[in-house]
Amino acid sequence: MLMTKERRSAIRTLRGWAIAVLHETNAIRECEEHGWMQDRSDPHARERAFDIARLDPPPGVSSEAAAFAMMEVLDSIGDTCPECPSAD
Ligand SMILES: [Zn+2]
Repeated sequence: MLMTKERRSAIRTLRGWAIAVLHETNAIRECEEHGWMQDRSDPHARERAFDIARLDPPPGVSSEAAAFAMMEVLDSIGDTCPECPSAD
């Protein structure tokens, strides 16, 4: 039971780590008004984020798992804020 619990919290932390790195490299940004994360679709920023996943994954996490977590975060984030009115 303890193992399962620990594993779950590690996954949650890994997603948080991936979001932090993507934010830091400007691959994603937060809507200033609503706080939704948006994918900036910047290939260079993504490349930097994946470099960090590959070269400097969080402790106890393989570079593959770190990169996978990052892809999952990017998959789950749209490129516009769902609450912002779309520009005409
Ligand atoms: Zn917004």
